Amino acid sequence: MAEIKNLKTLDNRTYYVGNEEKFSKGCRSCLLGDGLGAIRKTNKCNLECKFCYNYGQFDYMPPVGEGLWEIGGTKFYEKDIDLLLSIQKKPSGIAYVYLEPFMEIEKYYPVIKKFNNAKIHQHMYTNGTLATEETLKALGEAGLDEIRFNLGASNCSDKVIENIAIAKKYIKSVGIETPMTPEFLKPS
Ligand code: SF4
Repeated sequence: MAEIKNLKTLDNRTYYVGNEEKFSKGCRSCLLGDGLGAIRKTNKCNLECKFCYNYGQFDYMPPVGEGLWEIGGTKFYEKDIDLLLSIQKKPSGIAYVYLEPFMEIEKYYPVIKKFNNAKIHQHMYTNGTLATEETLKALGEAGLDEIRFNLGASNCSDKVIENIAIAKKYIKSVGIETPMTPEFLKPS
């Protein structure tokens, strides 16, 4: 650590280098504890990564339920989200997690719009293989602030790298977040 120049901390929660203004708002809300953990919808994925939290359970992942969203560990009907946002203390940010959102991405647009209207920072994780210009544009228009690509899931496929460039046209913050598995460190 002593050899890393300009090493900074985010309120002692993590170390980083570089421009403080570019520190991901999604990470900031999670690390500082004023964000709401997770929003879950789809229970499916088109890949089966060995490093996935759900590896070996893909056929048994429980659905969240028709018309329902799991928000911070509680299930809500989509129509009740407006009420939730009007009575609860709003989190600074939320994250769309749980398998692959692009399996049914059209379900996400209206919910992203609601949280965007409430001025809550939103980020989403994807493996990027099913993204298209049309769906990335729709996410940006709905108000998604940040999208993170798991490049390790597709073994750094060219198509996903192209999708990262397309995402940058429509979504403010685009990042790569990949687990450093032995396979990723030493490709065969
Ligand atoms: S792409 Fe993501 S959700 Fe799908 S299997 Fe891999 S790690 Fe799991």
